[in-house]
Amino acid sequence: MSVLETTLGHYRAGDLGIILPHEHIFVDLGPIEAESYRAADRDEVIEVMLPHIQAARVAGVTALVECTPTGVGRRVDIVKAVSEAANFPAVVATGIYREPWVPAWAQAASEAELTAWMVRELTEGIEETGVRAAWIKLSAGDDGITPVEAKILRAAAEAGRQTGAVIGSHTIRGRVVRDQLDILEGAGYRADRFIWIHTQAEPDFALHLEMARRGAWLEYDAIGSDAFSDAWFVEHIQRVVEAGFGGQLLLSHDRGWYDPSKPRGGTQLPYTYLLESFLPKLRAAGVEDATIELLTVHNPWRAFAR
Ligand SMILES: [Zn+2]
Repeated sequence: MSVLETTLGHYRAGDLGIILPHEHIFVDLGPIEAESYRAADRDEVIEVMLPHIQAARVAGVTALVECTPTGVGRRVDIVKAVSEAANFPAVVATGIYREPWVPAWAQAASEAELTAWMVRELTEGIEETGVRAAWIKLSAGDDGITPVEAKILRAAAEAGRQTGAVIGSHTIRGRVVRDQLDILEGAGYRADRFIWIHTQAEPDFALHLEMARRGAWLEYDAIGSDAFSDAWFVEHIQRVVEAGFGGQLLLSHDRGWYDPSKPRGGTQLPYTYLLESFLPKLRAAGVEDATIELLTVHNPWRAFAR
């Protein structure tokens, strides 16, 4: 029986409906040295983010995956506080972002030490929060995987192998994903437990299909952004579905969030665009309700539950 670990404890299959697989509640995108996340005001984050979570719930979202790893200001204690205030589950990650955001301790750690840390967060909990990570988030450089990123990836493969956790990677280029899958498979991890985050950033659609054929999840997670039109997403979702990979596709906004390096967390974008504006267009283009349910309910559950 698979379960999904969240900030509100674990859920079982059928407990949840629509899940947004890639959003942020709290992420520090300020200068690395400033470490603004350390001094963040928890109550202010709740005040700023609560209305957005509530609006998502009203729109029909039942959970969201918070994709902030170590290196860009992960604060699971704050995410948990927001989640509890809203009585709305968030799915959080262990793992480490790419260089130059890899903290000194992780650069110095051995692969086995990193695996042990990830397994602890996946099975016991993160820091003092009592919240278990559901999955492993990492990243790789746009031009190729650095040795430190490869170490983190191999450590994640072992932690994922031991726990069943999915690995999601912020990877902009398809050929870098190809290298990541080679490393993962070499380490005895399965490609079908890997999510290619930001797939839309790779302009060569043949690479989307190549990774899907190997078993990887594709994630179109910039829905509602200025960089990609709704028409682009409608077309590419249909092409993925027609190629037979609808069961490996995830849809999200990559929105939110409170950034502690900015006054009152900067400007937030709502988590409601997909449901309120985009899905009606997908339906109007002829995509069936059963497919939309697959993409928004069943796929995120299967990807993140373990
Ligand atoms: Zn993101």
